[in-house]
Amino acid sequence: MYGKLQSLFFTVSDGDVLMHLIGFDIGGTKVEAMLIFIGKLKKEESFISSFEFQKSSGDIVPGYVLYKKRVATERHNGYVQLIDKMALLAKEVCAEKNVDLHSLSGIGLSVPGPVDPKSELVTSSNTMILVGHNLHQDLRDKLKVTFPIISENDANCFALAETLCGAGLDYFKKTGIPVNKQVSIGLILGSGFGGGIVVNGKAVTGRRGGAGEVGHMTLYPGGSPCYCGRAGCAEQYLCGPALEAALNNRIYSQIEKRPGAAEIFELYEAQDPIALAVVKRYKSDLAFFLGTLTCMLDPHYFVLGGGLSLQDVIYEGLEKKIGENTYLPEQAISIYKHKIGDSAGAIGAALVVLEQNNLHF
Ligand SMILES: [Zn+2]
Repeated sequence: MYGKLQSLFFTVSDGDVLMHLIGFDIGGTKVEAMLIFIGKLKKEESFISSFEFQKSSGDIVPGYVLYKKRVATERHNGYVQLIDKMALLAKEVCAEKNVDLHSLSGIGLSVPGPVDPKSELVTSSNTMILVGHNLHQDLRDKLKVTFPIISENDANCFALAETLCGAGLDYFKKTGIPVNKQVSIGLILGSGFGGGIVVNGKAVTGRRGGAGEVGHMTLYPGGSPCYCGRAGCAEQYLCGPALEAALNNRIYSQIEKRPGAAEIFELYEAQDPIALAVVKRYKSDLAFFLGTLTCMLDPHYFVLGGGLSLQDVIYEGLEKKIGENTYLPEQAISIYKHKIGDSAGAIGAALVVLEQNNLHF
C-alpha cells in the first residue's frame, strides 16, 4: 500500500532494532520535522531528547530525537509550497546528522484532521489547504523515495505515542499489562478538544478515519453552537477557549484584560468566586464526558495532553467523579498527565509507520 518494503530499511543486530525515521508534526501555524532513531545509540552521538518504546514482544527499546527543525506553515501560500517545504525539511534534518535520506525506514505525518484510510485523503481540517489532499503520496513523489510514508490524525498520533512510550509504559510498570494489551484514550485539552483511541497497541481509525473525534460528541443537547454546524458539542465546553469564554461571559466589563486559561487557574487558587464556579463546572463536565467514554470503551486509562492538562487541579477527584458517571463504578480508572510532551505528535506519527508496516514485530 505504501510502497515496496526492503529488508535494507533496518538492521537487526543481536535482537536490537536500529532504524532512522522522520516524524512530522503539521499544524496550522508551524510544521516540525524530527529525525528519530530507534535502538541503542553510539556513546558519542548527540541527541535532543530520549524516550522508551515497548515493542509487541514486550521488550523495551530506547528511542531518540536526534534533531528537529520547525518552520512556519504559511497557509496563505497554499498547499504546494507546504509540500516543497516539508521535502526540504526532511532533507535538512537528515543532512544535519549525516543520515542518507534513502536509508530511512519511513516518514510519518501527524495531520490536523481525519485521514480516510481508503482514499488516504485528509477529509476535514482546521488547516483548510490540507483538505482533499493525499499528503504522504505528494511528499513521496516530491522526495522520490520508495520507503513508506503515512499520514495519521494528530490526536491518534498523540494517543499512540503516549501509549507505546509514555503513560502506557507507566501503566505497564504498575500493572504488568504490556502496551499491546492495553486499551487507552488520549485526549487533548488545548485550543481545541480532540481524542485518539488505541486498542492493543494500534490507533483505531474507524471506517472513514473519524474514530476518536470526541470533540463533536454531544455534551449538552441544543447547547452552544459549534463550527461543525451542530450545537452542544463537547469541544464547545472542554477546550481552553471554552473555559475562557465561560469566565469572561460572567465578568462583563468589570476588568480591562480578559484572563486566559492559565490565569483562570491562578484566580481559582486565589479563591476568586467566579473562577471557582467556572473551574468546578469545567471539571464536572469533563468527568461526565469521560464517564460516557468509559461506558463506551472501558479503557485501562485516559492520558491528557494540551495546555489545560498541565493544571494539577484538573486531576483532583477526577477518577472518583468519573466513577460516579459510569455503569461499573467500583474500579476507579487511571488518569495520566502526558509524558512525552510537545514531541508526541511527531514521535507518534513515526511509530504509526512501524505499526502499519510491521517493522518492529
Ligand atoms: Zn461540533
